[in-house]
Amino acid sequence: MSATSLQLIALDCHRCGSSLGGEPTDMIFVCDHCGAAAVLGDRLEPVEAVGLMPAPGRQARILKPAWLVEARVVVEDRLTAEGRRTPGSDTVRSLVIPAFDLALPDLWKLALALTGAAGVRGETPREPVRGGVMHLDDALTFARYLVIGEEIHRPDLLRSARVTIEPRQSLVAAVPFEEVGSDLRCCVTGVRVRASA
Ligand SMILES: [Zn+2]
Repeated sequence: MSATSLQLIALDCHRCGSSLGGEPTDMIFVCDHCGAAAVLGDRLEPVEAVGLMPAPGRQARILKPAWLVEARVVVEDRLTAEGRRTPGSDTVRSLVIPAFDLALPDLWKLALALTGAAGVRGETPREPVRGGVMHLDDALTFARYLVIGEEIHRPDLLRSARVTIEPRQSLVAAVPFEEVGSDLRCCVTGVRVRASA
């Protein structure tokens, strides 16, 4: 970006006008006051947001953002290692991809668990949801790898498959965590991850 094209974007909530707090690297913002969410690109783009509810008995102390993608997921041309063609699938699913900074194995583990959990949705909590650094495009790419990973882990040995993901709606989800030492434990799935800084 050249100096002449530099523009300042006001980080104010599009719904209530409050200023949106966040880390300098954040690109996903959820308003502490009204729960509205926006994503920073060339400008601040409003996006739907939901809160995932903690499992009974779990108390959320920290909220982290994820992308919740409602998508048509098509798996076709499944070919096993023996060269046998097997049935694919065509389903509408909710894929949940954590959007905060995690090491790849933790990201993978948590995305699989959250996607499998079909968490109960509610209103976005009126509390800080910080650290959202993953762009939606990257979340969609990761979602595709997640589905390919699921296919690879099915009992038959897979040689190849074609996976297409057609997003219908993408929302920001506030995911509840509790601190366990220096780790975070997801209050929806129980999965424990190392929070980077
Ligand atoms: Zn607001």
